[in-house]
Amino acid sequence: MTLGAGKKYKEHTLFLDRDGVLNKRPGSGYVCRPGDFHWIPGSLEAVVLLSGIFRYVFVVTNQQGIGKGLMTYDDLQEVHRRMLQDVNEAGGRIDQVYAATGIRHTDSFNRKPAEGMALEAMDDFPGISLEKAWMVGDTTRDMLFGYRLGMSTVLISHQQIDSANYPHLVDYRFSSLGSFAKFINRKLL
Ligand SMILES: [Mg+2]
Repeated sequence: MTLGAGKKYKEHTLFLDRDGVLNKRPGSGYVCRPGDFHWIPGSLEAVVLLSGIFRYVFVVTNQQGIGKGLMTYDDLQEVHRRMLQDVNEAGGRIDQVYAATGIRHTDSFNRKPAEGMALEAMDDFPGISLEKAWMVGDTTRDMLFGYRLGMSTVLISHQQIDSANYPHLVDYRFSSLGSFAKFINRKLL
């Protein structure tokens, strides 16, 4: 390892989408309680690895199930408490979780692809540089969010459709967060 290589991403910020990146997508419904949150195999370990590499790790998640009245804010907090507990117990770190809880077409500031949650993070945490930020997600919305903010974008997908339709939005593509974490970790060597 060359001198200082381990610091390569120490000034970088990682924004992670939740459903489909950390946990299995809940189908057409929502993760309304901790018992409905199921880690994608390898994703928890990936968060642990990535949190040792990046300066900040945030989750940015659209959760319009609250706006629709299908779950409460407290329900969402419970889910995230459990998620953060899993990460902490595994030796990792998520610095903050941001959730856009309004419904589509009404939450025009916070709901991805709008930039609100990233701007909130920049208010909350000093020293975030968007040029040194990454957005990892599994939808076009996530890629657009990162692209608009000038981040590096990482699509987690087995399907070709997203990046085929919007090639300019996607900088990297992996089948899982675990694959992305291994890629970043190798870049440190
Ligand atoms: Mg998602």
